[in-house]
Amino acid sequence: MPPATAAPFDIAIAGAGIFGLSIARRAIQQGLRTVVLEAEHIGAGASGGLLGALMPHMPARWNPKKEFQFQALLSLEDHVRQLEADTGLSCGYTRCGRILPLTTQDKLDHHLERAEESKTRWRPEETGFSYVVEPAGRRSDWLDAAAAPYGIVYETLAARASPRLYLSALAAFVRREGTLLEGAKVVGYEESSGRVSLDGQTDLFARNLVLSGGFAAFDLIDLFVGERIGRGEKGQALLLDGKGLENKPAIYCDGLYVVPHGNGTVAVGSTADREFNDALPSPARTAELIARAQSFCPSLDGRDILTEWAGIRPRCNRRDPVAGKLPGSERVYAATGGYKISFGIAHLIADCLICEMTDQKPRHPLPQTFQPDHHFGENLLKRDR
Ligand SMILES: Cc1cc2nc3c(=O)[nH]c(=O)nc-3n(C[C@H](O)[C@H](O)[C@H](O)COP(=O)(O)OP(=O)(O)OC[C@H]3O[C@@H](n4cnc5c(N)ncnc54)[C@H](O)[C@@H]3O)c2cc1C
Repeated sequence: MPPATAAPFDIAIAGAGIFGLSIARRAIQQGLRTVVLEAEHIGAGASGGLLGALMPHMPARWNPKKEFQFQALLSLEDHVRQLEADTGLSCGYTRCGRILPLTTQDKLDHHLERAEESKTRWRPEETGFSYVVEPAGRRSDWLDAAAAPYGIVYETLAARASPRLYLSALAAFVRREGTLLEGAKVVGYEESSGRVSLDGQTDLFARNLVLSGGFAAFDLIDLFVGERIGRGEKGQALLLDGKGLENKPAIYCDGLYVVPHGNGTVAVGSTADREFNDALPSPARTAELIARAQSFCPSLDGRDILTEWAGIRPRCNRRDPVAGKLPGSERVYAATGGYKISFGIAHLIADCLICEMTDQKPRHPLPQTFQPDHHFGENLLKRDR
């Protein structure tokens, strides 16, 4: 058995979703010898979806998590443009903006406060992004005026990307500059030797291992730490024919996103089911999504359904994503649990993780609630200290 110092890879990453591939890109940029091990194929998990909403948290009750996500959304455009330049592949990214309907006087009052707070939090003069309340009837060629009797919020920070194109661009970069193996399921890791065990295949060696297998990463984390810190939650979305709607802003109404994409499609999603038997789209959920979206967006009436899709999101029990070295371990890291916001934050999560691994200062510090200490039980952490 070769010693860990003779390991051919500096870092092995289990899972080629948006987290795993973003970490791989950052690791490669750092000069680390990187291998991504994907159990099935690129986009087999939740990242192979359709919606691609890159939406900010509300500018109210500000905290480190909101600041982290704000910084991530501010820097994502440059990050995507650089990836596109590196690979020659589009990620379908556009700063599309977002409309939120105001349905009661309470909501109007509340969002007027948020609009005021956004001046401090979003710093419009410096960043150029605004969050404003507009009177009833505005933008009613897109969001039905009847759905917004007290006006709307229109904010310009929200963006969208094509999840599949973004993933393909990252995968192309990793294939060219590192190693990406599909059909390679990680089933174990021996820290002392750096041996990565693969299901039915020859083991390989890596100095560090990152568990980024989406909801399945919680099984591996449990294997290493003896505690299950998250679960999967099923979601469903669909794509409609959206010709002529490409330049419309996203709408968030009644818990649902309508997100026009640049290729003449409109994504609608998502549902959320804690209990599920499979990851397949259900006709009942499709009918529900269409009916709800058409109720506030009449331009979607009569549009053909192009694709139905369902996936399983990784969700940590303590809500926020987890990123960092596992308790009791020197070389095993986890990055999962992005739930509904993974695409907007993955590049900054990747920066934090690789900086932790290489003992550098990240571009933006990881919020305390994203760190492993926050996610594991008190007794376990005491034992490991
Ligand atoms: C319907 C729906 C709509 C969504 N909409 C949005 C949205 O608009 N914006 C947004 O930001 N997020 C959205 N999300 C959430 C987002 O898709 C997920 O949070 C994100 O894709 C999770 O990425 P991940 O890399 O952590 O995991 P995944 O994308 O699930 O990737 C994990 C990968 O690891 C592989 N794997 C698992 N176990 C192993 C193993 N042992 N060895 C090797 N490989 C392994 C899997 O095959 C998979 O390919 C949505 C999710 C759903 C379901």
